[in-house]
Amino acid sequence: MAPLAPSYLDLQISRAINGRILDDTRLRVTTVPHAINSREYDGRPICDGRTSCVPLCSTRARYDAMVHLERAMRLGAVLRTQAVVTRLELDESRNRVTRVHYIRWNSKGDTFTPHPAPPVSAQVVILAANGIENPMILLRSKAANKSGTVGCYLMDHPIKQSVALAPQKLFPFRGPQTTSNIEAFRDGEFRKRYGAFKTSIKNDGWSTNPASLWPRGVAVPAKGQRDDFPGTIVHLVENWGYVGKGLREKLEDHATRQITLNSACEQLPIKENCVTESANLDLAGITRPQIHYRLNKDPYVVGSFNQIVKLHNFVFDSLKIPAQDRYFVSPDAPDALIYGGSGHIMGTTRMGNSVSDSVVTRDCRSHDHRNLFVVGSSVFPTGATANPTSTIAALALRTAAHIVEERKKGSFNS
Ligand SMILES: Cc1cc2nc3c(=O)[nH]c(=O)nc-3n(C[C@H](O)[C@H](O)[C@H](O)COP(=O)(O)OP(=O)(O)OC[C@H]3O[C@@H](n4cnc5c(N)ncnc54)[C@H](O)[C@@H]3O)c2cc1C
Ligand code: SF4
Repeated sequence: MAPLAPSYLDLQISRAINGRILDDTRLRVTTVPHAINSREYDGRPICDGRTSCVPLCSTRARYDAMVHLERAMRLGAVLRTQAVVTRLELDESRNRVTRVHYIRWNSKGDTFTPHPAPPVSAQVVILAANGIENPMILLRSKAANKSGTVGCYLMDHPIKQSVALAPQKLFPFRGPQTTSNIEAFRDGEFRKRYGAFKTSIKNDGWSTNPASLWPRGVAVPAKGQRDDFPGTIVHLVENWGYVGKGLREKLEDHATRQITLNSACEQLPIKENCVTESANLDLAGITRPQIHYRLNKDPYVVGSFNQIVKLHNFVFDSLKIPAQDRYFVSPDAPDALIYGGSGHIMGTTRMGNSVSDSVVTRDCRSHDHRNLFVVGSSVFPTGATANPTSTIAALALRTAAHIVEERKKGSFNS
């Protein structure tokens, strides 16, 4: 499929920075690979570019797992909704998972009622509950953990985001949230010293920010802040007295000049960043995950964040944006990083060749139980900078092909 069309904003940044050099690195704006239709495809429409992709794409131009789930159900797969897997039952003598235990639940208002359900058995069991719950199910079951690494090496792509108000109109709010990236710092000799990163040019203005101060955020800035300062519409009405036509004109002028650069950086797999079982139980009566996760003072991430700030300022300089119209463009103190999470939960059931330091094989098969597979970004041994889902899909396809072959050979028969 052809790439999605670059936004007007992408083109302005390409014009300003393409071919220029920052710290021996040549910059270039490139297209983002997407699972979003750039033409009618597979019974789903072309993207209409209204920038409302998170939490969902209402037109279904963007692929999501429902597409294949619906097909599987038409072929006879059974979907049990409101079902929480609590643990796996093992037959250690035969090296197998024998049954999957789960509960059903329903809720009314604040009341959550779990119901016991009979366990299910299967020839092959595949966990696909993402980077927190994949390891939690294994930990609760005391399964697949001969290496002692289940839950360890938790990674995300920590985000450093800067925003600015350009003097010229850049017309964000067209296209999916990102159509172009600056990927010059995805790899290089510098990775010996600090993490790689990729920079997304955001098409959704100032909509997203960890500080929650932006127009669609929640906080109203204190009186005395400029009328261009990030904040909600209430700031403009209550603190500045904008109403009616004046408010509309102010919003129109502001929203068309907003720019956000969002850089997601590589984080090294560190064993102490991990998911463990907490002593607390949740409403379903199963142990909650306890997350141990630290970025502050990690020199690899701190170094990357410093370089990110340099690049963001370079782009803003190239667009001739004055210093007072930029926010979050100073390096943070190493022990007080201002960062956001990507929601890319990686590394907690890592893939590897060695039984002693990994949980699954290259085919996402447990080293310890021959009929157990774990899919998703929890198997990633490292995180690099790319958003994970295309890799997750590719690995799922490889796992499925492997399972089909192994079934033909009778590998899962008792
Ligand atoms: C805000 C946000 C934006 C993102 N944007 C991008 C992006 O632009 N590009 C990209 O590549 N990735 C992106 N990601 C990451 C992407 O969402 C994940 O990589 C992807 O959803 C993982 O798919 P999955 O099927 O492995 O896990 P999930 O989509 O998390 O699905 C796991 C399922 O397992 C269920 N489950 C969990 N525990 C249990 C249990 N005990 N019993 C039964 N069911 C259970 C959950 O309810 C869920 O339905 C984003 C994530 C977030 C949060
Ligand atoms: S902009 Fe986003 S939400 Fe809108 S059609 Fe395209 S992918 Fe879907």
